[in-house]
Amino acid sequence: MQKILISRCLLGQRVRYDGGAHGPFALLERWQQEGRVVALCPEVAGGLPTPRAPAEILGGQGAQVLDGLLPVLTVDGEDVTAAFVSGAAQALALVAQHGIRIALLKARSPSCGNQENYDGSFSGTKVAGEGVTAAALRRAGVQVFSEEELAAAEAALGALEAQSLA
Ligand code: SF4
Repeated sequence: MQKILISRCLLGQRVRYDGGAHGPFALLERWQQEGRVVALCPEVAGGLPTPRAPAEILGGQGAQVLDGLLPVLTVDGEDVTAAFVSGAAQALALVAQHGIRIALLKARSPSCGNQENYDGSFSGTKVAGEGVTAAALRRAGVQVFSEEELAAAEAALGALEAQSLA
């Protein structure tokens, strides 16, 4: 069975920087019942506490963090790059362990965002970009969707399952 990596906060687990969570999402509940879900909060896995200070990447490009070109900084100026990179590495380890090819991650997070991100000014300004874990997964060939793309994620899962049966 194809497993899916999912942001823990989308499963109602209170791991967001502000102690909050998201959901419920009926599709994710079904995937949990089917035993497909591999849950991860990259920031908590990387060693950060909850709640924690919000963090952003200047320019919003997680791939540049992976390449060592930019730090991840909290609103207080603390460098949390190591925790973010560790979380991304743990995501890749889970992908390898479970043969994962699809991830469903929280939109606009500096770790999990897959299409947009905040620009590093802590002003609520969004740019095209991705989080550190999302960038690592994309580089590894994992299809990354957000909770705003549930139908597309479900279709991608269906296509993978059909391939495996062919
Ligand atoms: S968006 Fe990602 S890093 Fe942030 S709380 Fe959710 S799972 Fe954790």
